[in-house]
Amino acid sequence: EQKEELTAQELADKGFKGHGMLAPFTAGWHTTDLHPLVIERSEGSYVYDTNGRKYLDSLAGLWCTALGGNEPRLVEAANKQLSTLPFYHSFWNRTTKPSLDLAKELLEMFTARKMGKAFFTNSGSEANDTQVKLVWYYNNALGRPNKKKFIARSKSYHGSTLIAASLSGLPALHQKFDLPVSFVLHTDCPHYWRFHLPGETEEEFATRLADNLEKLILKEGPETIAAFIAEPVMGAGGVIPPPATYFEKVQAVVKKYDILFIADEVICAFGRLGTMFGCDKYGIKPDLVSIAKALSSGYLPIGAVLVSPEISEVIHAQSSKLGAFSHGFTYSGHPVSCAVALEALKIYKERNIVEQVQKLSPRFQDGLKAFSDSPIIGEIRGTGLIIGTEFTDNKSPNDLFPPEWGVGAYFGAECEKRGMLVRVAGDNIMMCPPFIITPEEIDQLISIYGEALRATEERVKE
Ligand code: PLP
Repeated sequence: EQKEELTAQELADKGFKGHGMLAPFTAGWHTTDLHPLVIERSEGSYVYDTNGRKYLDSLAGLWCTALGGNEPRLVEAANKQLSTLPFYHSFWNRTTKPSLDLAKELLEMFTARKMGKAFFTNSGSEANDTQVKLVWYYNNALGRPNKKKFIARSKSYHGSTLIAASLSGLPALHQKFDLPVSFVLHTDCPHYWRFHLPGETEEEFATRLADNLEKLILKEGPETIAAFIAEPVMGAGGVIPPPATYFEKVQAVVKKYDILFIADEVICAFGRLGTMFGCDKYGIKPDLVSIAKALSSGYLPIGAVLVSPEISEVIHAQSSKLGAFSHGFTYSGHPVSCAVALEALKIYKERNIVEQVQKLSPRFQDGLKAFSDSPIIGEIRGTGLIIGTEFTDNKSPNDLFPPEWGVGAYFGAECEKRGMLVRVAGDNIMMCPPFIITPEEIDQLISIYGEALRATEERVKE
């Protein structure tokens, strides 16, 4: 009890009106680090800290524990593999059965278009770094070594390694690190509410963004642009679903200039949007795909890149001339991670996870969007089982609350007090619960959200 009081007091003293801006609140990345929490165990949609407090884990760990906290089949799959073959590598034509089976399974599951090969990594960041090397190798093999630049979007998140952070469009990942690297360019964030012009429809907004993309390509020279990378729904940038017709239009532009399309499905894949992949939802036909997170339901680190047959064939055919595609990680295709991922994919299929998300989505989305008229909420947006809330004043994207008020952090602390963990990034709140969340747990999530919102509204009024 005392700890709770102290936490709320700490937040109020340090993070709110007139008390000065403190770095821990505004660093964005570590907003909630001010109040340390040591998580000890998990069960279903809940996690427990070392004091035995129970929290509804509205972010599924870090957008990943799709099957919740204690799926015994995943544990069993790991144990079985650990006791058979805990490790072997995937270099020089050596590999393991779980790695082969997982590659085959992923290539079958991804149906937005036919994919040719899968390459395993340990994370989403490594998957996106791998994309850059694959694309460069491919262009070198085709004799066009100048086609090297990448276009990503403002507010995107593609990871934390040097290249993935460069691709990301979040200033906090660039400032102080001398990033982005010079071959990465950024184009518009497709956030209609925040960036549309007066009177502009979603379709017109999408057309303007596609035109801007084309202008950027022409300015740089299409022969210098290798690939465009996009999350189907932007995640860490604040949960931003694309405006109507956006992907149709940007795909037409990149195709026109022979630029590859990389879909970063690290958050969207395996049902999150109510479709097996984000590409299915928006008619995206990518050349390359990055996946991670829910691939193993977060139980073990694993990521993957899916490569179109056109690209994989060129790389395969050229590898004798150029030499092998010399890239890989010790733990690429780790047999235990692959065994767990295979089991996770099996469970997604057996339990019709896509249908389950579709069924739960209206309760989750409508329940939370019902708070849209709160005076401190600018926008609530999302689809499937992912949603973002942006706190602004006067319902306007331009009337931001002073950062030193710490409105988002206050809301996060109010949720935590009531037994729920949310992702706070400045005045953006993000939620992305496990797919196994029950309707009753969704109701609990909404009820805690509502109470925390009222408390935050009161605080803002003071
Ligand atoms: N891409 C997207 C869309 C992500 O959301 C993330 C992580 O949040 C990454 C890439 C990076 O993945 P990882 O943290 O596994 O390196």
